[in-house]
Amino acid sequence: LDEVKKFDPEIAQAIEDEMQRQNDHIELIASENWTSKAVMAAMGSPLTNKYAEGLPGKRYYGGCYVVDRVENLARERAKKLFNCDYVNVQPHSGAQANLAVQFALLQPGDTIMGMNLNQGGHLSHGSPANISGTYFNVIPYGVDENGFLDYDEMKRLAMEHKPKLIIAGASAYCRTIDFKKFREAADACGAILMVDIAHIAGLVAAGLHPSPFPYADVVTTTTHKTLRGPRGGMIMWNQAAQDKFKFNKAVFPGIQGGPLEHVIAAKAICFKEALDPSFKVYQQSVIDNAKALSEGLMKRDIKIVSGGTDNHLMLIDLTNYDLTGKEVEAWLDEAHITANKNTIPNEKQSPFVTSGIRLGTPAVTTRGMNTEDMDKIAEAIATVIKKKEAGIEEAKAIVKSLTDKYPLI
Ligand code: PLP
Repeated sequence: LDEVKKFDPEIAQAIEDEMQRQNDHIELIASENWTSKAVMAAMGSPLTNKYAEGLPGKRYYGGCYVVDRVENLARERAKKLFNCDYVNVQPHSGAQANLAVQFALLQPGDTIMGMNLNQGGHLSHGSPANISGTYFNVIPYGVDENGFLDYDEMKRLAMEHKPKLIIAGASAYCRTIDFKKFREAADACGAILMVDIAHIAGLVAAGLHPSPFPYADVVTTTTHKTLRGPRGGMIMWNQAAQDKFKFNKAVFPGIQGGPLEHVIAAKAICFKEALDPSFKVYQQSVIDNAKALSEGLMKRDIKIVSGGTDNHLMLIDLTNYDLTGKEVEAWLDEAHITANKNTIPNEKQSPFVTSGIRLGTPAVTTRGMNTEDMDKIAEAIATVIKKKEAGIEEAKAIVKSLTDKYPLI
């Protein structure tokens, strides 16, 4: 930070303030995590200076022999980690990976199916606000009244609308996803199956959530959520898809220019970390902590959608307290707990207000917290929900005891 301080004190101060914020708050945003120092160092390396359009060995610029090594290491490690034949590590983000796959497979006006954003899906799976919902005819599917994926209804819709592409995967779904059921629906209506494992990638890599292979034709992910790498995306597929589809071309020159080789180096480091046996221990703790947090909340009369969780996240249903996600998110923030408002099944509020709060345990687990700490966090959250603004100071004191116990800086 010294170099930044010397040249740009305003930005240096902002970085220091953000480090302080991360230290003083309990991070429960399900899509966030802390990368290792090695991952961060690679992102701040001179690899950022290099243009390398194309793929290793087939670049449109000279001087790429070193970054070729970096990108090949990332690709080989990712293939080993997820057990697939082909990988493109260049997408700048998860949304870019999804757009590239859609660009490779679809024409404007084609019909696709994706999980409803209001019921746990992601914007890039066909939301009207996203390019995917503008260029394609989207048939959304969702969850039943108990918050479980409604596979029968998804298959019925697939048979009725005959989509060219079915997208499985979610941003706010706390149960194990049955990829075989998606494959059956895709086969029954002749669709291609894309699975987006952005949220659960770490669990899949550790073998703690079933893999989308061999069911998916193509798999996308981010690298910065449970996988604990740098902010970025990735596309994976097997030989059968390689013979039919052009995913590499869809990334470049389709939707991107030069790859971020410094981030690709950080992805390679993240994959090496994830291949280590300790990664499985970490992912198991993420799941144990999520279970402990949801149980801690439920025993304090806070409703959890679907009655628990199988993975790293959960959704609080605030309707029985007559509160909105928007106000609880703000109160939690004041108590130094960072979480996000989220729509819940049968939502009556707008997506900007919502009746739910999404919580996830990847970041607190990286910080070293355990199931006993989760019970304390549950107490802090329940205090805010039950006492509203009057509970903020009490919750903040619980948070302080935990952030002091696990300092980051
Ligand atoms: N796919 C899913 C399932 C996600 O949850 C997200 C982000 O939350 C994305 C894709 C998009 O990732 P990014 O923010 O890197 O574009």
